[in-house]
Amino acid sequence: MKKTCVVFAVILAFCALFAVGCGKSKNARSRYEMTLVYEDGVLEGTMDFTYLNNTETAIKELKFNLFPNAYRQGAKYPAVAVSAGAGAYYAGKSYGGIEIESVRTGDVEAAYTVGGEDENILIVPLEKEVFPDEKYSVTIEFNVNLAKINHRLGITQGGTVNLGNFYPVLCGYDNGFYECLYYSAGDPFFSECADYEIALTADEKFVVAASGELIKSETQNGKTTGTYRLKNARDFAFALNENFETMAAKTGDVTVNYYYIKDSSPLKSMDFAVKAISTFSSMFGAYPYFSLAVVETGFNEGGMEYPALVYISDRLDAASYGEVIVHETAHQWWYASVGNNEVESPFLDEGLAEYSTVLFYEANEGMGMTRPQMIEAAQMTYRTYCNVYDQLFGKVDTTMLRSLSEYSSEYEYVNIAYVKACLMFEHLRTGIGDDMFFKCLKKYYADNAYSVAKPEDLVGAFEKCGAATNGFFESFFDGSAII
Ligand SMILES: [Zn+2]
Repeated sequence: MKKTCVVFAVILAFCALFAVGCGKSKNARSRYEMTLVYEDGVLEGTMDFTYLNNTETAIKELKFNLFPNAYRQGAKYPAVAVSAGAGAYYAGKSYGGIEIESVRTGDVEAAYTVGGEDENILIVPLEKEVFPDEKYSVTIEFNVNLAKINHRLGITQGGTVNLGNFYPVLCGYDNGFYECLYYSAGDPFFSECADYEIALTADEKFVVAASGELIKSETQNGKTTGTYRLKNARDFAFALNENFETMAAKTGDVTVNYYYIKDSSPLKSMDFAVKAISTFSSMFGAYPYFSLAVVETGFNEGGMEYPALVYISDRLDAASYGEVIVHETAHQWWYASVGNNEVESPFLDEGLAEYSTVLFYEANEGMGMTRPQMIEAAQMTYRTYCNVYDQLFGKVDTTMLRSLSEYSSEYEYVNIAYVKACLMFEHLRTGIGDDMFFKCLKKYYADNAYSVAKPEDLVGAFEKCGAATNGFFESFFDGSAII
């Protein structure tokens, strides 16, 4: 995600304080096949999920995150903080949620439960143990009700149907299935790469933006069914609006589709997206998919990343579109391909997406910012944060190995996971030199593409490729480094 008013804007950082109160790889993996019908704020779905046990243990039950339940009335961990107010809830309070209609394993009804700490987890006991490398299929029928909200999932003020985190998605596995709680500050997601094939039926008036490629489209009785496919992806998202303008461009073997309504300079926005893909492909390694949908939509922050699809908020000022597009496109390398548990280690993808944005402006002169400007702004933002926290609380916690639950405010989260992490990569590069820095970053990408990385994998990649880091990362992680 790109936060709206933070990273390179010192003054706006104060606002935040007080407001707070996978396609190209060939390995076997799990598979989602869905049939979806959208009408009048309700999404009906049937999902055939084929689980491939890629753990080293026998699995007796599957757990799925039910992120739509964070939009329900009474959610303990709501999708949007109360302080977000009218910016998100443009029509007053509005609620959504997901109902599980049935779960079957083969022809047998499964004795599933909806549990977790906040009705956020679907637990499906299996008829038999599934051993490593074995497959097991379950069919889940569900209904999603959409709130009127400018957020990842819901109907936006501009009438866009945002379908992000809309279906039961298998929990990421790390010594057990990890149950994500929906922290409104941050992207509280952790899932693993799978293959997707989804048929979505909706009124023919809608222009549909989707993760992945459209492989078939049929219109009957005023309804269009589009079938979309995406391989090696850890999520899948859509956005529908009858008024989308569209534009397409190609860079290498990647097609970029831009869906917009308000953008007064769509060619410029497209230029940022195309240049971001070509810049990052040569800097880090190949773009992980064959398409990218850039969608201007109602969203209460700057933008949001999904595999092969990104949201760009329609509330941005014209000058911010480019920066947000670059940040979200960078997430295709850091989050979509190289995944991480975004609840436990949010700095991994956000820090790299922020620093990749600096690299983009450095490599593409004349796009509006320079590396020295951005680093100086980040340093000022970070120092201001330290001073503010020191004055308010008499101390400042600058440790980085923290989960979303361990940040006391969104302001603190942004300054550590985005700003400090961005500065960490700048200091690292300055210390080990450009050649070594980019060689090691490429290694980190190559070693962890379509997988899930932890902080130690980042450190390990730099050590293995020969960088003399000598405790550098640890000093940033534990807060002892002076910036
Ligand atoms: Zn981000």
